Amino acid sequence: MAQLNKSDPLKLAIDGGPPAITQPPPAWPIADAAIHHAIARALDDSSWGTYHGPWLDQLEAQLRRTFDVSHVTCCSSGTVAVELALRGVGVKENDEVILAGYDFPGNFRAIEAIGAIPVLTDVVADGWVMDFEAIETAVSDKTVAVLVSHLHGQIADIPALRQRMEELGRGQIQIVEDVCQTPGGAIGGQPLGSFGDASTLSFGGSKLLSAGRGGAVLTNDAKIAQRIKIANDRGNEAYPLSQLQAIVLGPQIDQLESMNAQRNRNAHRLLQSIEPMTTLSGMSQQVTGKTVTPAFFKLPVILKRGRWARERWLYAAQTEGLPVGSGFRGFTKRSSRRCRKTSTLENCRIAAEQTVLLHHPILRSDDQTIEQIEQALRKLEITISSETENE
Ligand SMILES: *Cc1c(COP(=O)(O)O)cnc(C)c1O
Repeated sequence: MAQLNKSDPLKLAIDGGPPAITQPPPAWPIADAAIHHAIARALDDSSWGTYHGPWLDQLEAQLRRTFDVSHVTCCSSGTVAVELALRGVGVKENDEVILAGYDFPGNFRAIEAIGAIPVLTDVVADGWVMDFEAIETAVSDKTVAVLVSHLHGQIADIPALRQRMEELGRGQIQIVEDVCQTPGGAIGGQPLGSFGDASTLSFGGSKLLSAGRGGAVLTNDAKIAQRIKIANDRGNEAYPLSQLQAIVLGPQIDQLESMNAQRNRNAHRLLQSIEPMTTLSGMSQQVTGKTVTPAFFKLPVILKRGRWARERWLYAAQTEGLPVGSGFRGFTKRSSRRCRKTSTLENCRIAAEQTVLLHHPILRSDDQTIEQIEQALRKLEITISSETENE
């Protein structure tokens, strides 16, 4: 590396070279004429100021169609949606709920909020979704539900989980599918969110469908839907989504498919260029025999171990102009008073230590910016691999 001169485009920005990326990522949420128009309409007829009105009804109908489910309850966040979904499928105090040891932090807390016990199981190697092969050891007579998240664009094979549960003679165990990161994704053409006994969406500020805050619970089961309504009712809705929030979501759901297609194209391109060029492990889908349509909230990479520390990689990448952060911390270090661990959770530990995530707005960049992102990743890899080889 020492021979590189100052104008060398391969010199890292942290070493005084030119940053690879010259413009900020596209804004999120987008400034959109359809959203503007919807808000203006709600202003005109004052419908934004009602507790429950046509915009919420319209949103729920649109969600039922889009996610191919018969019941939708909108609520105030994805975090609350997970708790309502668990209550909906019948989780009560002292029941056990299986979840992956690498997941959104609030999912662990949602189980605790009910007084139920989180049971941790491992994720797949070099990935982020639950390893269903390992689930047998997690199941007990107290298991009422499995909470499964599609994470970082990797899709969990919920039909395979259901089959596995039936093989184990545990077909009565309920599955809660967390779709907060992957709305618009599908397995074999069937939308994610329609596989779980209950499923959850987030409309949080950074998510692919955003109202700043908000969420929804989906189900095809009238009894589960009724329990969700009761859990969200204290004479008034305890965790409501407002009309004003509902208004901004409609146009985004209309555009979800085309936006996901653009994000998927760019994600595919970046993952392809990451894999051979960087020897960073990329991502493989865990679903076999069916077409998977992913959806990317973040584009994930597990950094190879024994090289640069993640903090250094992130600092160098950010200095190149890449909007990146680290993944979830996972639950492997949680006290065993708070949960039951069913293995050493080795893959969860690696995911928690080595994951970096590129934020989804960059997946809507133009071709020139995507090339710059590839260049940033290439520069990083060249420097890191030459340093590693020299050791
Ligand atoms: C964001 C997220 C949630 C929670 O959504 P909020 O609306 O932020 O409360 C739940 N699960 C997963 C996997 C998420 O990414």
